[in-house]
Amino acid sequence: MSSDGLVDVIVVGAGGAGLSAAIEAARAGGRVLVLEKGDQVRGSTGWSVGSLSAAGTALQRKAGISDHPDHHFEDLGRFNAGKGDGDNLALRRILVDEVPDAVAWLERLGVSFVGPSPEPPHRVPRMHNVVPSSAAFGACLVRECERLGVEIRCGWRMSGWLAEAGRIGGVQAVGPDGRTHSLAAQRGVVLAAGDFSASRELKARFFGPEVVEADPVNPLSTGDALLLAESIGARVLNGRMGNPPKLRFVPAPPSWLQRLPTQPWVGRALAFAWRTAPQWLIRPFVVRFLTTAMGPEPTLFRCGAVLVDPDGRTVPIDFKNTARNLPLTPARLGYIVFDSHCAEQLRSWPNFVSTAPGVAYAYLDDYRRGRPDIYRSADSVEALAAMIGARAELLSESLGEHRRGPWFALGPLRGVVTLTDGGLAVDTRHRVLGQDDQPIPGLYAAGSTGQGGVLLEGHGHHLGWAFVSGRRAGRSVMGDLET
Ligand SMILES: Cc1cc2nc3c(=O)[nH]c(=O)nc-3n(C[C@H](O)[C@H](O)[C@H](O)COP(=O)(O)OP(=O)(O)OC[C@H]3O[C@@H](n4cnc5c(N)ncnc54)[C@H](O)[C@@H]3O)c2cc1C
Repeated sequence: MSSDGLVDVIVVGAGGAGLSAAIEAARAGGRVLVLEKGDQVRGSTGWSVGSLSAAGTALQRKAGISDHPDHHFEDLGRFNAGKGDGDNLALRRILVDEVPDAVAWLERLGVSFVGPSPEPPHRVPRMHNVVPSSAAFGACLVRECERLGVEIRCGWRMSGWLAEAGRIGGVQAVGPDGRTHSLAAQRGVVLAAGDFSASRELKARFFGPEVVEADPVNPLSTGDALLLAESIGARVLNGRMGNPPKLRFVPAPPSWLQRLPTQPWVGRALAFAWRTAPQWLIRPFVVRFLTTAMGPEPTLFRCGAVLVDPDGRTVPIDFKNTARNLPLTPARLGYIVFDSHCAEQLRSWPNFVSTAPGVAYAYLDDYRRGRPDIYRSADSVEALAAMIGARAELLSESLGEHRRGPWFALGPLRGVVTLTDGGLAVDTRHRVLGQDDQPIPGLYAAGSTGQGGVLLEGHGHHLGWAFVSGRRAGRSVMGDLET
């Protein structure tokens, strides 16, 4: 074991929450070290669609929409109704009050959004979508970290604590050399290590086998920080909450387009074009950025689409959770197949195929243009079966009464866990609470790790929480948070 130089703050995890915390702690005068166990900055933040819901933003005003955080507070309550063991209304209040400023802050750092788009029961359009993709979050936040002198170490995994007299004074972390290092932090540690969608141990504690068997989108979301915090008396709230499992198309193969997102001018140019150019002109270009793990909506199956395994055999759909059965099949892989009657319905609102970066809602034609690798169409069931490697007789049986050609297939897709909502109990200063609900001195948490029981249903609230709570935790650890 080796020891390292002293800093004021150690942030664990370089996703949206961790980088935001690092920036605010550095702006408050702190020497900040970020540890990221991945070999690059991404996190679920970089995997995300990039929708962010906020009330009272400049984009809303430009669109002539009058909105207020109080209304957002109420509408978020409608999304959350009946979910979870209980909600944390104090944290919800913080989210809705501060997320408009977080959007403006991200814009100042070079992130571009388009929208806002509607999503009932939000009473007005509130969904802001990052362009060209969610990679822009990491790129812009890392640039600001560099400007402020924040050190980001990739390939470093937090594995334990440095504690003295009940106070957290740093962490132990395994470095790229495979050795365990002791890293001290004078002011404290901010845990921002994401959720536990990749932890079989934690998933088995809170969910059934369909979730345990489902693959995570982000394999690094192993809940390390939750388990380590539990070992010193912290507790996980709303562990049974989450979106799992969801159907997700396999991610697009890497292309030259993926090199563009790190440049802020690309986002600005796309956002400008989005505002000024006719939609028929700009949409085909923007949808080329459908590179993240997109998820088909249940609407497809309501329109008559069928989920099949790679042989063409029907995988039953449970409308409460369309991905429930796929992870339990031997191949854990499937295709969505449908006829032209269904296809016609998937070409306009409200029958979108999925939400999507930039365009908010992607329809069948967006997939034809933007994801040719997962879009197939054929004049006969036999030809479609050949395209996806299925057995024609099984596919024909699965399509049943849906017999109007041409026929379509979208896939492959998997049942995956996108996110889990269980996070550490925290107070409104983002201090991690231990026994008897007392703060554990020196320990803070943000983002999914520090979700604190707040329910974030609907699209765009998890990212909002990551940026809002991350910024606040960074100020809090430096003693610079006004409440
Ligand atoms: C496919 C997908 C689409 C989504 N779309 C949206 C959306 O459009 N809108 C929305 O609001 N939300 C969305 N979400 C959810 C949202 O992306 C996350 O809730 C949010 O990004 C969490 O941010 P975070 O900073 O807390 O965690 P992350 O971004 O996951 O960052 C945590 C980081 O900690 C690192 N880490 C973990 N353990 C350790 C360790 N021991 N040591 C060091 N580092 C560690 C991880 O590698 C990771 O980089 C989506 C999620 C997915 C997967």
